[in-house]
Amino acid sequence: MTLLLEGMPGATTPEQRAELATIAGTNSASRYSVREPGDGFHDECGVAAVFNHPEAARQVFLSLYALQHRGQESAGIATADGHSLQNIKGMGLVSDIFTEDVLHKLKGEMAIGHTRYSTTGDSALLNAQPIRVDSTKGLIAIAHNGNLVNLGNLRAKLERQGAFFQTTSDSEIIVQLIAQSRETTLVDAIADSLRQIDGAFSLVMMTRDRVFAARDPRGFRPLSMGRIANPGGPDTVVFASETCAFDLLHARYERDVEPGELIMVSDEGVTSRTYATGVPRASCIFEHVYFSRPDSKVFGRWVQDSREAMGRRLARESHVEADLVVPVPDSGVTAAIGYADECKLPFRFGLIRNHYVGRTFIEPEQKVRDFGVRLKLNPVRNLLEGKRIILIDDSIIRGTTSRKIVRMVRSAGAKEVHLRISCPPTVSPCFYGVDTPSKRDLIAANNTVDEICDFIEADSLAYLSLDGLEHAVREDTDPGFCVACYTGVYPTAWVDVDEILPAPAMRA
Ligand code: SF4
Repeated sequence: MTLLLEGMPGATTPEQRAELATIAGTNSASRYSVREPGDGFHDECGVAAVFNHPEAARQVFLSLYALQHRGQESAGIATADGHSLQNIKGMGLVSDIFTEDVLHKLKGEMAIGHTRYSTTGDSALLNAQPIRVDSTKGLIAIAHNGNLVNLGNLRAKLERQGAFFQTTSDSEIIVQLIAQSRETTLVDAIADSLRQIDGAFSLVMMTRDRVFAARDPRGFRPLSMGRIANPGGPDTVVFASETCAFDLLHARYERDVEPGELIMVSDEGVTSRTYATGVPRASCIFEHVYFSRPDSKVFGRWVQDSREAMGRRLARESHVEADLVVPVPDSGVTAAIGYADECKLPFRFGLIRNHYVGRTFIEPEQKVRDFGVRLKLNPVRNLLEGKRIILIDDSIIRGTTSRKIVRMVRSAGAKEVHLRISCPPTVSPCFYGVDTPSKRDLIAANNTVDEICDFIEADSLAYLSLDGLEHAVREDTDPGFCVACYTGVYPTAWVDVDEILPAPAMRA
């Protein structure tokens, strides 16, 4: 395991850093998704922070462990003890990188951490986070979930002003903006820098003696705050992308970091300021469809409740006579439970997922038909044989994986296969931290539902309507959602025009 060490004895030298910059990322998406490479949404990133805990690094490690589903490419933890700030990051899974020996190197009562799937910047270890920068405002470590959209302009402007970038990650832009800010206090400089960036960012930052947490003004990505009570002393304050991380720490969820809010935690306590107002909220609805864990409360609503409601609405909108409801595991499971309950059909695990398919497995050039999907999923023949199956999944991207799954269910003896998708057709890519194919590669952007149904070889196909999805996630909260990947209407002015061109055959 190659690690990048910063700010501690034996730290990585500049020569070693140059070498590390060439270390390629790994295609770990296959480990966590049943989809084949290129035929899926890639996970984003997870961030966590802890203030005032004797084992801060371990607490962040546990948080990242719970957030592993949000990114499996690299992970890092930075700690501070009031005097120094050290950072260790590596490629791979949280538990592979942070062994007992490595955790022992990370001293201090404050920590921030990050688990990453690359969205901007290449996959090399240098771009793993937290990023630690020695700036004119002192040592700063930053971990960021999301994607900035006014990146090119800002980087060029900062370089003209003399900024020297150590990484190609957009997160470093935030630190460089802080360093160049004319504001005199650090918290003012952070607020000043956040006002200059556009796009999605839920971030945690740390100096030698303070922890910061902030969300972009639209609130694209989640970020929650919690506390661990310490009898006789001040509470431990924790932040995490999802509330499921708090459960492992025995932390109590307190509230979400609000869109446009910057929170500072120091020995003086917790202070909050609103650095931006008047921007319509646009929380990512896809967090409820796919990304977040069902045991998390995201944007004020339990993901489990949203997914079950999606399944119920899907059943009301497009039910068909059948014998069995079968989820595509794992992300289709909760919606399938709601669907089956609504239409009073049996729910069965008719596809079994192998959770141990490692990313190092080399696919033998598709010599065996549909090999990649078969490696991850296997049909339960005795459940499917002779039955009319309603198959529930959360999305169709290119369509190739869906076709393989439909074929698999049919070849196991199913009489009919009806595919139901728990969200609307994905017609446009995401620019806010979710790695989607460009429009020309999204099957729903270039084909009708009937054409997609023919392509995937299903007996019928239906998607949840946008209205149905919005109702499912809004039953007891309405933060204001981004639905751009279903509508092509983006909440920011900056988007990559090349990415939203339709497939050539469809162009005028
Ligand atoms: S475009 Fe889609 S995936 Fe991206 S933030 Fe908006 S809803 Fe989420």
